[in-house]
Amino acid sequence: MQRSQLLDRLAQPRRYDLAVIGGGATGLGVALDAAARGLSVVLLESHDFAGGTSSRATKLVHGGVRYLAQGNLSLVREALHERTTLLRNAPHLAQPLAFIMPAYRWWELPFYGVGLKAYDALAGAAGLGRTEFLGRGEALQALPTLRGEGLKGGVRYWDGQFDDARLAVALARTAAREGALVVNHCEVTGLAHEAGRVIGLHARDRETGRTFQVQAGCVVNATGVWVDALRQRDGEATGRAVRPLVTPSQGVHLVVDADFLAGRQALLVPRTADGRVLFAVPWLGKVILGTTDTPRDDLPREPQAQDAEVDFILSEIGRYLVRTPTRQDVRSQWVGLRPLVRPGQEEAGATRAISREHTVQTSPSGLVTVTGGKWTTYRAMAEDVLAHCADQGLLDPLLTESKKGVTTNLHLVGAQAADRANDLGQPPGLHLYGAEAPAIQALPGADRVLGGGLTEAMVRFAARHEYARTVEDVLARRSRLLFLDARLAADLAGEVAALLRQETGADPQEADFRTLAGTYLPAAEGPAMTSA
Ligand SMILES: Cc1cc2nc3c(=O)[nH]c(=O)nc-3n(C[C@H](O)[C@H](O)[C@H](O)COP(=O)(O)OP(=O)(O)OC[C@H]3O[C@@H](n4cnc5c(N)ncnc54)[C@H](O)[C@@H]3O)c2cc1C
Repeated sequence: MQRSQLLDRLAQPRRYDLAVIGGGATGLGVALDAAARGLSVVLLESHDFAGGTSSRATKLVHGGVRYLAQGNLSLVREALHERTTLLRNAPHLAQPLAFIMPAYRWWELPFYGVGLKAYDALAGAAGLGRTEFLGRGEALQALPTLRGEGLKGGVRYWDGQFDDARLAVALARTAAREGALVVNHCEVTGLAHEAGRVIGLHARDRETGRTFQVQAGCVVNATGVWVDALRQRDGEATGRAVRPLVTPSQGVHLVVDADFLAGRQALLVPRTADGRVLFAVPWLGKVILGTTDTPRDDLPREPQAQDAEVDFILSEIGRYLVRTPTRQDVRSQWVGLRPLVRPGQEEAGATRAISREHTVQTSPSGLVTVTGGKWTTYRAMAEDVLAHCADQGLLDPLLTESKKGVTTNLHLVGAQAADRANDLGQPPGLHLYGAEAPAIQALPGADRVLGGGLTEAMVRFAARHEYARTVEDVLARRSRLLFLDARLAADLAGEVAALLRQETGADPQEADFRTLAGTYLPAAEGPAMTSA
């Protein structure tokens, strides 16, 4: 996979059936589905695949107990079924996980237990395991570091977890395998119009500055929280006022060492002081704590955690654990922006009450915009988008309809035999590469561990086969080290940069990565990293 060849393909004059803007869960899902149906597809991502919200999830493949509490049963049912599909199609990157909801008051057991039994019922045959009531001793056996004082018992239910950024890369590569042209670090700078209709887009390679014009019968704006920027430009080009669709809300996650949550099961806090659910989830040898839900009115690429959000997570989770984690225990923190869809501009209120279901709409110019939803339902969302495009006459309805459902049983690149179950609770390593592990072992440096489960061969593989161009691409999303241990990630930046220079000949942006890594630690710890 040579980048220069990808860009040469992009420069060729041709008209694609579909151009997708944005390489997060949503855009990649649409590109893969369309390519698998036989459409000609191009997808452009301005930064890196999953560089936006899609690498910053809680990593749950879930129906969503909080949506259950809101009575949003159709969303929960769809997500529970998609959960099973994802686990089947990417078993190297997604797996079932048991969650324990502890009860410190007697009424909580029947109250939450009945709700979680309903979760089972909605899953039906797609269930991953039976919801069970646990006695006090059983709950402590499952989560040995759970606070025992006052504990009455618990409820165990099943959901899934995954590696979000690696899943995005697997989607990109699978879409390419199905014939799509997918290019990261290539920004869509504008839309091309003819007689008031969108007929394509303008793009710019962020590495070289080379520019491109791409023609397409259908253009899908899947730029997550950033969809309104392109909608705005579309409106300006066609002389229409455009009302913003998205209101962003940020979610903070903290990562601490595994011993804070001993055992291999996750903890669900059913109701925090501000009335939400909070998780402690074992993931890749660490524990993820989160998340928050804080409205904001800007859309930075790298949103920062507020001190109050960090303290809130530490203190809320600390109420449930024998040892309360402190800021000094945080190995990494990251922030994602939720693209929440506004029901209407005039409606105000807490962001957590705003729809998390996705929205697909077409502007008068024919620009199709999709936003909202969740990672778990990316595949179903893609089907919806293509059906919408066909309804609007932007794609051939015969082709799209006859091949509908083609991704239901489409294994993603790297999917290994189903009997080789993976353990995403284990520290990172070759197991995340599924069926591709032997290909990595055959590369130079297979036995040279740089740190954090990352080998020289993995960096080479990332550059040769996984579209990685920068130190950040490798350490944030091919390996997840930035999200697991920001200090260690900064320590490895130099070696990763040297390998990337050998592999790509391009500037791997090492200094930018060191600065970024400094922002992935709570404020008191951050500044020292930048001078490393
Ligand atoms: C804190 C948090 C926790 C979450 N946890 C979960 C979870 O546990 N499970 C779950 O199922 N869901 C979860 N979600 C939801 C899920 O992560 C999102 O719904 C999903 O990632 C959104 O994907 P997207 O592709 O729409 O957006 P993004 O991932 O943001 O992708 C949009 C992409 O468009 C690109 N882009 C922008 N402008 C341009 C341009 N001009 N040209 C080219 N590209 C451009 C951006 O760089 C970006 O990569 C969570 C969300 C948040 C915020």
